Amino acid sequence: MFGIKECKKSSSFKRKIWQLSIQLTPQTSNRIYTQGLIDLGALICTPRNVQCDQCPLQLNCYAFKTHKQLELPLNTKKAKKIKKDKYFIWCKQNDNILLEKRNKKDVWFGLWCLPEVSEDDLKNINYRLKGKISHKFTHYELLGHVIEVNNLKVKSTDNSKYFRSTSSIALPTPIKKFIKTNLD
Ligand code: SF4
Repeated sequence: MFGIKECKKSSSFKRKIWQLSIQLTPQTSNRIYTQGLIDLGALICTPRNVQCDQCPLQLNCYAFKTHKQLELPLNTKKAKKIKKDKYFIWCKQNDNILLEKRNKKDVWFGLWCLPEVSEDDLKNINYRLKGKISHKFTHYELLGHVIEVNNLKVKSTDNSKYFRSTSSIALPTPIKKFIKTNLD
């Protein structure tokens, strides 16, 4: 009716409905008004069957005018997914791939992964893009840029090793898929 484009379960939606009800409820005969609303919601404007041609509110109804009777109010919160860019190094030595155990309290903590670097680390470095990884988490979408750095040589350590096969290693699924596709 009023075109509130927010999830009907959200507190913001409830607040707006509450404000509208305060504004619109008449000072007198409000029992008749309330019963009218109940009847309208039960018989004319039901969630699955709107009968706009019989509705006394049609002329002022936003949903009717914009043909959004079945879309409004929204059922889910429309949260915009944040996109996060991450940069991973592709470093091979004799057909073995370099992996690093993630120790930051961050995504994929404790799993082996292609070594991650920051965007700043890549300034003034000669590299080429090997491929991209996309993965959706609950609150954001990760866009992984896998890069190859010219003449990069990294020594193995306890948390940074070369592997020929990744089949028995605990890796994040999108990283595992990328390695499987790209490791010759
Ligand atoms: S015009 Fe249609 S959508 Fe609008 S209140 Fe009436 S029945 Fe509901």
